Amino acid sequence: MKVAIIGVGTVGSAVATAIKNTGCVHEIVLYDRDGLRARAAAEDLDHAASFGFDVKITAVSNYRGIRGSEIVIIAAGANQKPGESRMDLLNKNAAVIRDIIPHVIANVDTKTVKIMILTNPLDVMVMLAQKLSKISSSRVIGTGAMLDSARLRTILSRQFGVSTQSINAYVLGEHGDSSVVDWTSVTVGALSLDEFCRQTKISLPATTRNTITHRVRNAAYEIIRGRGATWDGIGAAAADLLRCIVNDERRILTVCCVSGNGADMVAMSLPRIVGASGIVATLRPKLSASESAALRRSGKIIRKNYDSII
Ligand code: NAD
Repeated sequence: MKVAIIGVGTVGSAVATAIKNTGCVHEIVLYDRDGLRARAAAEDLDHAASFGFDVKITAVSNYRGIRGSEIVIIAAGANQKPGESRMDLLNKNAAVIRDIIPHVIANVDTKTVKIMILTNPLDVMVMLAQKLSKISSSRVIGTGAMLDSARLRTILSRQFGVSTQSINAYVLGEHGDSSVVDWTSVTVGALSLDEFCRQTKISLPATTRNTITHRVRNAAYEIIRGRGATWDGIGAAAADLLRCIVNDERRILTVCCVSGNGADMVAMSLPRIVGASGIVATLRPKLSASESAALRRSGKIIRKNYDSII
C-alpha cells in the first residue's frame, strides 16, 4: 500500500510518524510546496523507520511522485494561531485545496483512491475537495470529529475511572465551535450513561455535562495556547482512520463526508461505518430535541461558509 501526504508541516509529519508505526503501509511519499521541508521530513522519518516497521519514506518534488497512491492525505494549509478559530482559515485554505486537488486527481486512480482531508475548516474543505475532485463522496473523507470524540472519551474516562476503550461516546457535526456532543447515545460498557452513573453513584448533572462539552470544543484552543499547534491527536486519528480503511475493519467512526442534495447538501461528522471502499454506511443516532436542533444549526454554519467560497 502506497500512501501520499500532501503538506508536511507539523500535522503532516505527525501523521507520517503515526502511519509509519501502524506497519500497514509499505511506502509513504511526502509532497510539500516547500521542497526543502518535505525532503528534511522524509530524511528524518526514514531514519526513524529503521527502528521499526519496514516502510520506505521519500519526498517527491512534484505530483507525478504520488502516482500509485491508494490513499492521499491532505494536511496542507494555514493552521490556527492563538485565538483564531478554524473558520478564520476559510479563504486561505480554500485556495490551498483549489491548488492541490487538480494535481492529485491528475495522478491517481480516481475510481478507487481515498482522499483524506485534515485541513481546516475541515467540513468545508471536505465539501470543496469533493466538488473539485468529482470523486464519490464515500471516498472523500475528513477525520472530522474523530478527534473531538477521542477528546470526549478521554475526559469521561478520567471522570469515571474506566478505560476509553469501554466508553462509546460521539461528537457530531462541525469539527469546530458548533460541534455537538451526543449525550443521548453515550454507553459505558453495555450500560446507558444514566444507568452507569446510577450503579457507580457518579453524579453527572447538566452543569457538569455542559462543562465537558465546553472542554471538548475548546481542547484545540488550549493546546495551541500552550504548544503553538496540535499534532499528536490528529496524527493518531488519521492513522486510525487509515488502518480502518486498509484492513477493511468496518469500525464506526465519527468521520465527515458530503451527504444530501441541493440546499440540504452538507459535510459534517456522523457515526459512519468505514471500510476498504471508504464510507460504507452512515448511521443516524437518536438525539434529544436540543441535540437535533444543535446538529441542524451546525450543518447550517458549515453550509453557509461553503456557500461563501463557491
Ligand atoms: P504547518 O504550517 O506546520 O504546515 C502546513 C504545510 O502546508 C507547510 O509545510 C506548507 O508549506 C504546506 N502547504 C501550504 N500550502 C500548500 C500547497 N498549496 N501545496 C502544498 N503544500 C502546501 O501547519 P500544520 O500545523 O501542519 O496544520 C496544517 C493544517 O492542518 C491546518 O489547516 C490545520 O488547521 C489543520 N489541522 C487539522 C486538525 C484536524 O483535526 N483536522 C488538527 C490540527 C491541525
